[in-house]
Amino acid sequence: MEGLVGWIIVLALASSLIECHSQRHRPPNAKHGDMQPHSVGEAARVASQIDELDDEDEANPWELSGLFEGDILLDRYHSRNGILNESMRWADGTVPYFIEDEDFTDEQQLVILKAIKEYHQKTCIQFRPYHKKDTSWVVFRSNSSGCWSSVGMQSDGQTVNLQSPGCVRHGVVIHELLHALGFFHQQSASNRDDYVRILWENIEPGHEHNFNKYNETEVTSYGIEYDYGSVMHYSAKAFSRNSEPTIEALQPNVTLGQRKGLSEKDISKLELMYQSQCAQREGSEDPEPPGFIDQFNSLLGLFKENAAFPTYGFKK
Ligand SMILES: [Zn+2]
Repeated sequence: MEGLVGWIIVLALASSLIECHSQRHRPPNAKHGDMQPHSVGEAARVASQIDELDDEDEANPWELSGLFEGDILLDRYHSRNGILNESMRWADGTVPYFIEDEDFTDEQQLVILKAIKEYHQKTCIQFRPYHKKDTSWVVFRSNSSGCWSSVGMQSDGQTVNLQSPGCVRHGVVIHELLHALGFFHQQSASNRDDYVRILWENIEPGHEHNFNKYNETEVTSYGIEYDYGSVMHYSAKAFSRNSEPTIEALQPNVTLGQRKGLSEKDISKLELMYQSQCAQREGSEDPEPPGFIDQFNSLLGLFKENAAFPTYGFKK
């Protein structure tokens, strides 16, 4: 009998060790964004518009995603809220994540992880794989049309949807994660009229609300100057009804928005927003969480080991 108890204990210990070290924890369905947010017709329209975009297009896929301001998921659990609301920040500046691997090829998963790596390299924010004790997390999915996210941390899981292949691009992942971290679009800043002119006459009727401004009790720029080059700035012809610009810079020689990655001012604002959360993180001197590095390296290894593996191209 004693021997049997001993074996049971050994087996229980072994299985918990295996669980700790190798099991990928699958989160329950996210409360925010688990359902397709578009009607069937709208979903098809969004999907085909994004599919037609190429890397050279000035339009950003998030502008075509058919939700509030293009790509912001508002849901019935939370009314719109601004980045000043501290309860919507990620504790310790740490974001648990889960990539739904049925939705993305290995190569696409690497695109997502490389965007995360940019956050690790340039900001104090850390992303680590979801663990079953987590009460907030981001799940990357591709089962809906469009590229979209909620703004700020929501409880019980939130989806970052990346339509495949149109939204699985470095700058798009960076943009959607900046929403998830708590940022709205740059041109909705309360002081934007000092920097840009909105050309209302060129906006598609019914889409004027995409150019709303937020007041300073909701949103702050942390004292950082307006950023024409933010990854969160609309392109010049966003929501245009006639291919004419809808936003015009009041300063010469500036380009509105980009999809390369975080701008210097994006980084500064994010660092100011998460200053105290990041400082509270234990082991905050580690540049990257080990769970992330393991996942990143194993995916990268697939490409290095197998020369035949495509370096570009998407599952369709
Ligand atoms: Zn957006």
